[in-house]
Amino acid sequence: IIQPIFMVGARGCGKTTVGRALAQALGFQFTDTDLILLQSTGLSVAQIVEQEGWAGFRTRESDILHGVASADGRQVVATGGGIILSEANRRFMRATGTVFYLHAPADVLARRLEAVPEEDQRPSLTGRPIAEEIAEILLAREALYQDAAHHVLDAGQPPQDVVSAVLQRLCPCAA
Ligand code: ADP
Ligand code: MG
Repeated sequence: IIQPIFMVGARGCGKTTVGRALAQALGFQFTDTDLILLQSTGLSVAQIVEQEGWAGFRTRESDILHGVASADGRQVVATGGGIILSEANRRFMRATGTVFYLHAPADVLARRLEAVPEEDQRPSLTGRPIAEEIAEILLAREALYQDAAHHVLDAGQPPQDVVSAVLQRLCPCAA
């Protein structure tokens, strides 16, 4: 049985970038829970949060997670950075797929997000400078990412190297 691959990690760790390349390498479909939200509602994450609050967004996100996982297993699923806040989501991903945590330090994430701020227009969670905010979020969520993941990878390396690392974890014999 082929299971979906879930990419988890903080904003900017490369879930979308690496996930897309990984799907291509495997001949899998690529799915992004944030993108599905946008396509199904016509609203961005920021707009959903504005209209329904974070709780509303989280509920929609969990529904989307269950929806994509019930589809064909041959897919790579990039998730939202906060999907792991729900214990049910963590357990669900671990049980139904293979979960990769793309781990990178806060300063690396901050540099990436500051380089292309328009690419990720999420509302600030705290209203403070981005590096500070990311460091705090990472501290709070690190254990949850670890808890959700079957594999932890260094997301500070170039995207293609992260893809190679995933492939090696999936099939050590091919290395
Ligand atoms: P996420 O989906 O986890 O929020 P993205 O894939 O959107 O992260 O990447 C955020 C930004 O960081 C993008 O501009 C992307 O090009 C860049 N990026 C992603 N992964 C890497 C990497 N391994 N090395 C360098 N830059 C990266
Ligand atoms: Mg993304």
